Amino acid sequence: MRFHSTRDAGLTATLSVALRRGIAPDGGLYVPDSFPQFALTDFDGLTGIAAVAPTFLAPFFAGDPLAAQVPAIVAEAFNFPVPLKRLPVAHDASVLELFHGPTVAFKDFGARFLAACMVRIPRPSGRTLTILVATSGDTGGAVAAAFHGRPGIEVVVLFPRGLVSPRQELQLTCWGGNVRSLSVAGTFDDCQRLVKAAFADPGLNAQRELSSANSINIGRLLPQACYYVATSLAEYRRTGQKVNFIVPSGNLGNVLAAVWARKAGLPIGELLLTFNANRTVPEFLETGVWAPRPSVPTLASAMDVGNPSNMERLRDLYPEHAQMLGAVRATSVSDAAIQARIQTDRVALGETWCPHTACAAEAYAQLSEADQAKGPWVLVGTAHPAKFPETVEPLVGHAIPVPESLARLLELPRAVLEVPATLEALAAALQ
Ligand SMILES: *Cc1c(COP(=O)(O)O)cnc(C)c1O
Repeated sequence: MRFHSTRDAGLTATLSVALRRGIAPDGGLYVPDSFPQFALTDFDGLTGIAAVAPTFLAPFFAGDPLAAQVPAIVAEAFNFPVPLKRLPVAHDASVLELFHGPTVAFKDFGARFLAACMVRIPRPSGRTLTILVATSGDTGGAVAAAFHGRPGIEVVVLFPRGLVSPRQELQLTCWGGNVRSLSVAGTFDDCQRLVKAAFADPGLNAQRELSSANSINIGRLLPQACYYVATSLAEYRRTGQKVNFIVPSGNLGNVLAAVWARKAGLPIGELLLTFNANRTVPEFLETGVWAPRPSVPTLASAMDVGNPSNMERLRDLYPEHAQMLGAVRATSVSDAAIQARIQTDRVALGETWCPHTACAAEAYAQLSEADQAKGPWVLVGTAHPAKFPETVEPLVGHAIPVPESLARLLELPRAVLEVPATLEALAAALQ
């Protein structure tokens, strides 16, 4: 399988090269040349993400130097539980808890998989590989955790100062060693812009080998597709129906993985994207006009994205507006509705949502009776509520027990460098 740039179908790479580069040389994003077409029987006897992943991933790794190592990569990356919990509601609905990895958000899937791949890609130059990662809160911690202590690799995390939760900030700044974190005077979009500018800068690229671990890296999307494969198979085997997902969305990496799994023949029905007050995508679906804008801060801060990178991949698949409307639906949820939903469902369902997962729960509650009844729905749970105690605890009226993996990190000392949102400042920090 070859992968090509969204901006030039002739600019192709193997998977290893696409993983290592992060972004295509022309600034486009790598996408597969074609999608494998699976029959459900291809997965007979396989249950759970670690079991289905080698089968699903094999065609994407075909012909790549990493192909033989996919089982080892999967075993190393997916070593934590992924529970699918039925919810006590009138129709068939469940929550897929993607937050039982080391940094208790779904970003652990992509980050751990990417790290497991990256350390296995031979680097003839022998130079240290610098991984740049812009984060709206959760990616940076997951990438830092996944790469911490890996020889020959350093990680530089850029996060928007004051716009991540205090516990997210701890997870971004507690590592030391081969991980550095930069607190940028700007928004997530500024951080993302700086990373892209660093890649485009000939001087910086001459000095060091750069790579990216953002959701623009295809090495994050393929592992995320695996939980949609495992979940859709489990639900299809249970109900005989395609499963519909509600995905809390920001940069669109999570939902794009679901789109790819559906393209590859998995039994996935509707994909309902739920956003916070950052309405770039819902407005695009309503009007057909793509109008990226600065992000606004919300309680679901990891979704505060005004110019989602992965839209470029989605539009590559669905260039016509009508096609896009046939592929996904979108809704947006206000901070007030997030708060009300956390309160309501604590009592009604016995569930404590993080502010992001609450967007999915609210989107589900707003579905019509007919929509709720049309096959199983899965709410994608993207983070553990203990990551956002300052928002969630006052609403549910009690302290949220902290998972052990998170508790361990909260004990560590912190180190952070404050920088303005300029390429010069990033270049200086990299010296
Ligand atoms: C990153 C993140 C999202 C948004 O995911 P995208 O892939 O950027 O769309 C949602 N919720 C949480 C908790 C996140 O960390």
